[in-house]
Amino acid sequence: MKILVINAGSSSIKYQLFEMSDRSVLAAGLVERIGEALGHLKHKTPKHPDIEQEAPIPDHQEGLNRVVQLLLDPETGVITSPDEITAVGHRVVHGGEKFSAPTVINTEVLEVIDALSALAPLHNPANLTGIQVAMKLFPHATQVAIFDTAFHQTMPAHAYRYAIPNELYEQNHVRVYGFHGTSHLYVSKAAAAHLGKPLTATNLITAHLGNGASITAVSQGRSVDTSMGFSPLPGLIMGTRSGDVDPAVIFHLANVQGMSIAEIDKLLNKQSGLLGLCGDNDLRDIERRVDEGDAAATLAFEMYAYRIRKYVGAYTAALGQVDALVFTAGVGENSPAIREAVCTGLDALGYALDLEKNAAGKTGSVTEIQAAESRAKILVISTNEELEIALQTEAVLNGD
Ligand code: ADP
Repeated sequence: MKILVINAGSSSIKYQLFEMSDRSVLAAGLVERIGEALGHLKHKTPKHPDIEQEAPIPDHQEGLNRVVQLLLDPETGVITSPDEITAVGHRVVHGGEKFSAPTVINTEVLEVIDALSALAPLHNPANLTGIQVAMKLFPHATQVAIFDTAFHQTMPAHAYRYAIPNELYEQNHVRVYGFHGTSHLYVSKAAAAHLGKPLTATNLITAHLGNGASITAVSQGRSVDTSMGFSPLPGLIMGTRSGDVDPAVIFHLANVQGMSIAEIDKLLNKQSGLLGLCGDNDLRDIERRVDEGDAAATLAFEMYAYRIRKYVGAYTAALGQVDALVFTAGVGENSPAIREAVCTGLDALGYALDLEKNAAGKTGSVTEIQAAESRAKILVISTNEELEIALQTEAVLNGD
């Protein structure tokens, strides 16, 4: 069975085509700069790894048209008809309280995803466009929505409610939703498999540290708390997002500094985090500057790691007992320095790093980096959100 995974953003489409019998990737790519003067498309297959196009790509329809043409190309293509694709799995950012599982898309589901745009104005409209275009191009395929928020719908009320008047939750749906759920679930399953335990008997802290970053407490395989909230803004320090700040800073910026809400939104989402602290948002550049003795970069690095440490402590308290602390995504998988800065001094909490194993880094899809005396395992796990979307889509088709 072939499943196409689509992640449609406001000006981009990421995609992967899987052959599910052996979980191999038949083709993958990225359409970027949709709607700009010159769009860009990168497409690769095992036999043709460097196909690129530059041309105006006015909308998502044209973007996906080009992808379908490449998939069908007589010379470099991997399928002979769009009907070979049994299902399309779509990443949808916000599923609200309505969706806690992968869902076959019908008219009603489309309406709810559209209505949830009120909660995710940057993401859901783009996800919806991707779905509508895919429905036209693959009319015979089952379209399935996989929600970034779904894994966190198991959080208890004491974790997902804010201490603000009840009606804001009851009437306006203001609560913690959490994001990156597909990745947190994928690495949780991989960790449980590695530990040889059923997921439903496994307690984990999963740190997804990419451009966006979040950390989740997983009790018996279920998310019970997570650092992102109503939006992806709070929690850990990210590339350009502030993470946790006192909301009164916003009142100050508006009332005393005269900034508009739109300006503050941009400030906290796009100009803060590592970028705001030191002018760089890529941790590789920051680590280079730390080595050169740069003070701003060093502070940014320390703050980034310290925020994660605080959450590891908090979630250890929330869980009581932890089988493994998991590092994943760009930073989590590739930065020994961050993992060391997070874990150093956490021995009493049950996390002791083996510095050599940590420095050596990933040796496979799951790598243990804890010292012999560590109570909890410390794991580096390669995340694979696209595969998780494909697997969940397949499970829906199989009625699981
Ligand atoms: P996204 O959230 O966009 O999927 P990724 O999970 O790919 O992002 O993470 C991207 C981030 O990973 C980059 O901004 C970079 O800071 C970080 N990163 C990647 N490789 C390394 C490395 N070797 N050392 C430190 N940071 C790294």
